[in-house]
Amino acid sequence: MPLIQIGDGPANASARRAQSVTCMVGGVAVGGGHPVVVQSMTNTDTEDAASTAAQVRLLAEAGSELVRVTVNTREAAAAVPEMVRRVRDAGVTAPIVGDFHYNGHTLLTEYPACAESLDKYRINPGNVGVGERHDENFRRMIEVAVRHAKPVRIGVNWGSLDRALLTQLMDENARLAEPREDREVVLEAMRQSALRSAELAERFGQPHDAIILSAKVSDVRDLVAIYRALAADCDYPLHLGLTEAGIGAKGIVASTAALAILLFEGIGDTIRVSLTPAPGGDRAEEVRICQQVLQSLGIRHFTPQVTSCPGCGRTTSTFFQELAADVTAHIQARIAHWRERYPGVAELRVAVMGCVVNGPGESKHADIGISLPGTGEAPKAPVFVDGKLVTTLAGDAIARDFARLLDEYVERRFGATAQ
Ligand code: SF4
Repeated sequence: MPLIQIGDGPANASARRAQSVTCMVGGVAVGGGHPVVVQSMTNTDTEDAASTAAQVRLLAEAGSELVRVTVNTREAAAAVPEMVRRVRDAGVTAPIVGDFHYNGHTLLTEYPACAESLDKYRINPGNVGVGERHDENFRRMIEVAVRHAKPVRIGVNWGSLDRALLTQLMDENARLAEPREDREVVLEAMRQSALRSAELAERFGQPHDAIILSAKVSDVRDLVAIYRALAADCDYPLHLGLTEAGIGAKGIVASTAALAILLFEGIGDTIRVSLTPAPGGDRAEEVRICQQVLQSLGIRHFTPQVTSCPGCGRTTSTFFQELAADVTAHIQARIAHWRERYPGVAELRVAVMGCVVNGPGESKHADIGISLPGTGEAPKAPVFVDGKLVTTLAGDAIARDFARLLDEYVERRFGATAQ
């Protein structure tokens, strides 16, 4: 009987990702089989250069490899060069992308320092004007991109879809003997808007390998459908993301469901999770979720993974939950230092398990794992390293002792003297 194949997707997923062209955004390669890029967006007022620069730094330091900022007013466009300078002065190199709607043609032409200091422009073809004005405004933005040698993302969004194109397709559909569902027509309009705009951009001089496409919707099934279609139709790198994903668990789960399906098929070169932040919440949460999606799929590794069981009636004290939280916090506190000193440490697998039912087995599968005594078991916690029982911890200092064993393991396995 053939063995089950494992990997980071169907056999052709990596090859499929490699089929897109490579678009350089600042110093970051997007597409062409390069690692899937994590990106995020600020929610500060861009007119406030200091607070926007601070948030760009926060996002970049959390791991956002591209950071997008709104450029919506003359004051915002005027503030962009200072904001970028502040970010660069702080030693942050993540490319900064300007997000333009409605007046991008005006801002990019009237504020050349803004155009020059940004690393990419996001253009929404659904709101650059209608009719001849649409093409003229679009042309003006592309000409700025060509003049400054900047890539663009043509970002279609179903909430701001090209009305003229949608109306035309709806009318054509209505004349069919068996009209398709409105939803399908909307997706078709998005596909055509993205591809036509890319073609137009190339006609205006934008290089083929300086264009990234996106087509965002807020329904998981629709997102999968539109991106499958785009991936089949073109070799532009694709920016994935469920738009208006929502707040909390709903936003995280919906985004993950959509991204996972597409990434597993080898579709998508850069991702964003568009969470609605809780009031006063941490904007960098969307960065960590992107990383976790990629890491859970085995596509990229960012931080050691802690496997822990949910606990059940066999482990009724909070000790097990506290240990899992302590170990996770220990890794988070160490990870920046570990990354610098211990190449490959992001692939470390740690297990914290509640009792003997699955504890020893799961711990043996991890690089280092601990299995706590469940309720009614002997008050001892065996520790497994590389699948072998190495010691048994007991007493009040189990958490501290396990953290020490973890540090020693990291040094031994990933340190300069490691074999
Ligand atoms: S390992 Fe033990 S404590 Fe954890 S969920 Fe399984 S049975 Fe419950």
